[in-house]
Amino acid sequence: MDRRSARAAPLAAKWRKLAKQRCAEKGARLTPARMAVYAEMRACGRPLSAYELIALLEQRQQRKVAPLTVYRHLDFLMRTGLVHRLQSVKTYFACDHPDHAHESQFLLCDSCGQVDEVESSGLETLLAQIADERGFRPDNAVVEVKGMCGTCVVGEHA
Ligand SMILES: [Zn+2]
Ligand SMILES: [Zn+2]
Repeated sequence: MDRRSARAAPLAAKWRKLAKQRCAEKGARLTPARMAVYAEMRACGRPLSAYELIALLEQRQQRKVAPLTVYRHLDFLMRTGLVHRLQSVKTYFACDHPDHAHESQFLLCDSCGQVDEVESSGLETLLAQIADERGFRPDNAVVEVKGMCGTCVVGEHA
């Protein structure tokens, strides 16, 4: 095993394959460094701020990581649809269905920090309809709902 792959988070074959496919479709190159950032985000499994991500990468690679480089990798991963940015909480996380382009709806838990990415074609249609009625031309229809996830709600009442 070469040293570089030894220093990336483990990434399930399924996600590796999907990531490669997505980049190939976009004519983008998924370099080992970009893949390492993606793997770290998948391994963590919850939304991360850029600084948390940098800290995890530094811990994994046992060296300093330039923030600018990580931001560039994040930009790349967002452009290819592998990663989403949550505007309201300024964090990033790996998309759960990177196999197709989509608008996103997120349920963000204020208590545990988990995010649930849902895809509702009904909601997308409704938003498009509302915009259309007003002659509004939307170019980004991301919905972020903040609150408490099912697990935390149950915990609260236990
Ligand atoms: Zn997604
Ligand atoms: Zn929660």
